[in-house]
Amino acid sequence: MVVIIGGGPIGMACGIECKKAGLDYVILEKGCLVNSLYHYPTTMTFFSTSERLELDNIPFVSNSAKPTRAEALEYYRRVAQNQQLNIHLFEEVSDVYKVEKGFEVKTSKRTYSAEKVILATGFYDIPNLLGIPGEDLPKVKHYYKDPHFYAFQKIVVIGANNSAVDVALETFRKGADVTMVIRDGEIGRTVKYWVRPDIENRIAEGSIKAYFHSTLKEVREHEVVIHTPEGEVVIDNQWVLAMTGYTPNLSFLEKLGIKLSEDGVRKPFYDENTMETNVPGLYLAGVICGGLDTRRLFIENSREHAVKIVAHILTAKE
Ligand SMILES: Cc1cc2nc3c(=O)[nH]c(=O)nc-3n(C[C@H](O)[C@H](O)[C@H](O)COP(=O)(O)OP(=O)(O)OC[C@H]3O[C@@H](n4cnc5c(N)ncnc54)[C@H](O)[C@@H]3O)c2cc1C
Repeated sequence: MVVIIGGGPIGMACGIECKKAGLDYVILEKGCLVNSLYHYPTTMTFFSTSERLELDNIPFVSNSAKPTRAEALEYYRRVAQNQQLNIHLFEEVSDVYKVEKGFEVKTSKRTYSAEKVILATGFYDIPNLLGIPGEDLPKVKHYYKDPHFYAFQKIVVIGANNSAVDVALETFRKGADVTMVIRDGEIGRTVKYWVRPDIENRIAEGSIKAYFHSTLKEVREHEVVIHTPEGEVVIDNQWVLAMTGYTPNLSFLEKLGIKLSEDGVRKPFYDENTMETNVPGLYLAGVICGGLDTRRLFIENSREHAVKIVAHILTAKE
């Protein structure tokens, strides 16, 4: 039995490959199907064109070249249904133990015996915290769902990459009074090329305010304190949207005995050809492989992990 932990696009890709190879498998997902995508903003559009999000060349038809979140949810749901994937939803894996002939995988519901385990747990669970006073106030959000909620509110957006820029533009267009707090001197270089002029022009004309080379120092109930090169600035504020990225659960990997690089990236150790980690029989797939570098791998370029893993499992069986 192969246990696949995580029912995101890449966990699903692994399930499809196992099924094609005739392997006994189960996908264990702690939330709903493609849980991370479900939690993305309701209004989001993927930067990839739909064919690059396809699993096993099953056609993904979308209205525009780049699909919306709703279209992606529809697609992955249809694929799961059509392929009759063996997925157990709302079943969280809490522990994986190495035993003599493989692994024991403990979940919120039961314990599975597995010969091989594939970890495809993504990176969207743990937000990067600001570590400042007031961060625990309910007005500070690390996830953003919809712009309507922020209409006619004074909001601060932290960050200058795609998520922060999308939040700033969307909420501004629904009537929010938006201030961006940006650590560097410019909008992030990876911001989508078709969005960049929009945010730069809004900042230049002053309709979205931006403090560059600045950080948020403190969040108070009705205001925030911003540390700027000109000194501290205190502004009225109702909501803080900290779009500062997310961190994969690397301590879970360490607990399973997977080695991580000692540089800042903390990249897990695995063989690029087989995706097997330093723990024999334990594989990594998807964005988790990048460690803290969560931008290097995404759906487009990690679908191939599934093929490599199953090829290696089959070779090992021979
Ligand atoms: C706003 C946004 C836009 C994006 N746009 C694109 C794009 O256009 N193109 C692209 O290729 N990529 C895009 N990405 C990135 C892409 O969504 C991720 O790279 C992708 O989801 C990675 O797939 P995955 O299966 O590795 O991880 P995930 O999709 O994160 O799946 C991991 C799954 O594991 C589950 N899980 C975690 N821990 C456990 C546990 N202990 N037990 C059971 N289940 C567990 C999680 O609930 C989750 O469902 C975007 C990301 C964001 C945030």
